[in-house]
Amino acid sequence: MTTIYLDNNATTAVAPEVLEAMLPYMSTLYGNASSMHTFGGQLGPVLRAAHEKVAALIGAEPGEIVFTSCGTESDNTAIMSALEINPHKKHIITARVEHPAVYNFCKHLARKGYRITFLPVDNMGRLSMDAFYKALDDDTAIVSIMYANNETGVIFPVEDIGTALRERGILFHTDAVQAAGKIRIDVKTLPVDMMSLSGHKLHAPKGIGVLYIRKGTRFCPYIIGGHQEHGRRAGTENVASIVGLARACELAMENLETESRHVSRLRDKLENSLLAKCPDARVNGDVKQRLPNTTNISFEYVEGEAILLRLDEYGICASSGSACTSGSLEPSHVLIAMGVPFTALHGSIRFSLSRYSTEPEIEKVIEVLPPIIKELRMLSPYGREKLSGQLCKP
Ligand code: PLP
Repeated sequence: MTTIYLDNNATTAVAPEVLEAMLPYMSTLYGNASSMHTFGGQLGPVLRAAHEKVAALIGAEPGEIVFTSCGTESDNTAIMSALEINPHKKHIITARVEHPAVYNFCKHLARKGYRITFLPVDNMGRLSMDAFYKALDDDTAIVSIMYANNETGVIFPVEDIGTALRERGILFHTDAVQAAGKIRIDVKTLPVDMMSLSGHKLHAPKGIGVLYIRKGTRFCPYIIGGHQEHGRRAGTENVASIVGLARACELAMENLETESRHVSRLRDKLENSLLAKCPDARVNGDVKQRLPNTTNISFEYVEGEAILLRLDEYGICASSGSACTSGSLEPSHVLIAMGVPFTALHGSIRFSLSRYSTEPEIEKVIEVLPPIIKELRMLSPYGREKLSGQLCKP
């Protein structure tokens, strides 16, 4: 059975070009870039070139790029840095729909005595700008708002937020882990101070991330040790992954517009066909301001996990809005924040496409999913009762 991989917001396949670029640094060129000898020292220019290539993807300068171990580390580091350099400020503003890398970290900081404002979103997942302006005060150390949401793909008004914060001299961090490589980002015009990226969301390997730190931004490292990354992130450089990420950024930049058209056309075909074939299905999130590769669809009166298991039988990989935590199925905090009704909360499925997604794959999902929904609704007493007479057209 071939795999139909539509879970690219979870992770992506390493591009063959990326793997090819990495291989020498996992075999013959295994030196430590900090070594005095030529064998290790030859990696210095390689790392410098990688900074340049990653910087180019977001319009940054090479010196503004710091390699980390993942998007989560970048997010934690940005927030901690703001708190360290503003020790008298105890307030953080973020959103209710952030990835756990920010959301749970802020909850952790709340337990340590910081005051956190989790901004609400409307039923289309859009941030309340009124609440944002009201939340700002002299005690605010940092605002961390994601560029685009991982579950719904909704894109946030980072430019407006950054402009407001710059006027007030408040630090702004954005988690662009899902946005980078999918939509054009240019920090030359975007008023952000720090931005997080993650390699494995753009066809580089797992375990490599980036924190963009605008030149002139006061910064305090989170991982302390050696002098790597100009003293901003200690730890021997993961040269192979850094090279891989640099190659992935080049590829993303070269193909951004073509890829965006490719994935959005297939995504729209999938979404429209499923909505047409399945009654009581709805798209979660603002469809106008959305990443081109993502759709989050709720099939009411069925369990997302049951759908995923059935799709898995066909080799189709997607993900659900619920997280199976310690035996209990908790609905997604993102969909809860959006006020998605109970009947739709548990039946949400996220499809996220990539440059490797194909038309036949999408057609296969359109063929197999509606009968699965119909069958699962027949099994559910609530679904049967509610939907008698108007089940999915196979
Ligand atoms: N932020 C967002 C929006 C994400 O989607 C993810 C991963 O899913 C992360 C942060 C964490 O990135 P990493 O897996 O590299 O730690």
